[in-house]
Amino acid sequence: MPQQATPLIAFHIEHIVSRQHRGTDDPGGLALACDRCNAYKGPNLSSVDPETGEVIALFNPRVDVWRSHFAVRDGYVLGLTPAGRATARLLNMNAARRVELRQALT
Ligand SMILES: [Zn+2]
Repeated sequence: MPQQATPLIAFHIEHIVSRQHRGTDDPGGLALACDRCNAYKGPNLSSVDPETGEVIALFNPRVDVWRSHFAVRDGYVLGLTPAGRATARLLNMNAARRVELRQALT
């Protein structure tokens, strides 16, 4: 989601590994995130793959390649891997309003 899509709410600089889990303010451990993604992610480092039920490390934007883990189709974010599916589900990427926004942007 581009920052322009939510002009009233600035994106957050979020800790990929939260301070609660010994993350630091080192720039390599930070990522720009929309407020919704950051709120749903919270301090989580992992979640459950909805296909297998396995606990999986979340997608890490500093290490993982987005296109390897996700695709966007008709505004929906599709998880292509266990990490992609677990992250898309945890961050509620396919909430109706977010899908509508993506559809309007493309
Ligand atoms: Zn987001």
